Amino acid sequence: MRVVNLSCNECGAPLVVPKSTNYVTCEFCGTQLHVVREGGAAYTEVQELSERTSQLEQDVARLKANDALERLDAEWQEEMQQYLVRSRRGEANIPTKGGAVFAVVAAGIFFLFWMRFAIRIAGRAPGGASAAMLIIGAMIVLGILGKGVSTFKKAGLYERRRAEYERRRREIVASIRGAE
Ligand SMILES: [Zn+2]
Repeated sequence: MRVVNLSCNECGAPLVVPKSTNYVTCEFCGTQLHVVREGGAAYTEVQELSERTSQLEQDVARLKANDALERLDAEWQEEMQQYLVRSRRGEANIPTKGGAVFAVVAAGIFFLFWMRFAIRIAGRAPGGASAAMLIIGAMIVLGILGKGVSTFKKAGLYERRRAEYERRRREIVASIRGAE
């Protein structure tokens, strides 16, 4: 950290402060000082009351914004849990529209294979077996389709809410920067 050697404008005590510091409190007399830079030189000035007040307001605003940021992050962390989809192994995943489309296509391909299988069995042994297989196949496909549709909806909602969260976060971060 680069520092500069200054002296207190009130009591004359030597002060060593970080180069980027704009405000410093003298550790000897407690005076709040403003670091003034002119050309290559720097010196301290006793802060006016109005200056002190506005700096306090800035500090308060920054604290509030940091608070809001923490709250926003925590809220999003909690909210996003409801959009996660669980894999068969129990892992939580962020839903994607692509993943949902893939599941539906996989269901269609499965259905075609299952139908071929059912028809072949029906050819060998006519009777109830192929009808039962068609019903089972249709139920499996419906199950996969249902999961695909709900994942697709969740993915859309997740994307919208995430964009909203990111927009609000950027606003707060910008307000913190603005207060500095
Ligand atoms: Zn002093």
